[in-house]
Amino acid sequence: LTAPETAVPTLRGAVAGLPSYIPGRRSAGRDVAALASNESHYDPLPAVVSAVAEAAGRMNRYPDMAAVELRERIASHLGVTAGELAVGPGSVGVLQQIVTGLCDAGDEVIFAWRSFEAYPILIEVAGARPVRIPLDDAEGHDLDAMAAAVTERTKVILLCTPNNPTGVPISHERVEAFVQSVRSDILVVIDEAYVEYAEAGSGPDSLALYRRYPNVCILRTFSKAYGLAGLRVGYAVAAPAIAEGLRRTALPFSVSGLAQKAAIASLDAGEQMEARVDAVKRERARMAAQLEAQGWKLPASQGNFLWIRADDDLRAKLVDAFDRADILVRAYQGDGVRITVADPASNDRVLRLLAAHAARKP
Ligand code: PMP
Repeated sequence: LTAPETAVPTLRGAVAGLPSYIPGRRSAGRDVAALASNESHYDPLPAVVSAVAEAAGRMNRYPDMAAVELRERIASHLGVTAGELAVGPGSVGVLQQIVTGLCDAGDEVIFAWRSFEAYPILIEVAGARPVRIPLDDAEGHDLDAMAAAVTERTKVILLCTPNNPTGVPISHERVEAFVQSVRSDILVVIDEAYVEYAEAGSGPDSLALYRRYPNVCILRTFSKAYGLAGLRVGYAVAAPAIAEGLRRTALPFSVSGLAQKAAIASLDAGEQMEARVDAVKRERARMAAQLEAQGWKLPASQGNFLWIRADDDLRAKLVDAFDRADILVRAYQGDGVRITVADPASNDRVLRLLAAHAARKP
């Protein structure tokens, strides 16, 4: 007796072709410096912990699906209206809604490369086509090449400023000229996940551009400077019709009540957040100066991380050295290594390790 051939469920080609997620190493009990994910190294603020604890008492209930209170709080913080906001489970969640909400199968999304690793994954899963435009020699966006890559299938363009992983911002003038040069039916998303760490004036005045150009959308997150990476909350500022569309396509209740309350409490604690951001910026400047003195050439990062361009030989040596030193960093095949700026002690470990390698560089 032969078993009848049975069909099995299969994943769509775009999904089957994606790389598997490999979780980072977490060695319990060792003094590991977690510098791989651009998180905030600070403990959560007491006021935020209290807000979460209070919200935890209501976890038997669904959260406010429309996140009304949080959207109103963000709106007053930015000087926009709640109708222009869509919140989601991290800005990556909102970005997924943007791509699925705007792209039909085969539509194109243009972005710089390297940039945030999730971009091509979200685009592929949506059935759209990722169009990667290599960074320029200064590790920044090549906006001319990005504009030249536009076709009639282009629906969305992602600008990441400061860019992850290189830290290079795009100036206000360049973003504005770019927005003026592309078709007004293309949504230009300015991903500002690290904007709080950027020096004033280094990047675009995105809210001013948003007010002037209805096809500009801003993406921000509570995961980085606000220190809520584990709670998953980010948002988009977009024209009311788009923001409303994003709210309609959201996975129901994807931003927990805990996350909503924590985000509100974080905005209320703005001064404390700024003090923490200032400390990271000072450490970034200290590290950049010392690394330069050691002979490393780095782009001037406006994020809470530093970028070392490295060929695969140097990258492998650095990865091995960081690994043995229990320092978690992010390595990118063919491109380099990204190191989060954190507390002075962790940063000193990085500086010592890189000093040893700078000495051995050819
Ligand atoms: N955009 C950029 C450029 C990022 O680097 C990240 C996180 N690494 C995100 C968006 C997403 O952050 P989250 O989903 O935690 O808001």
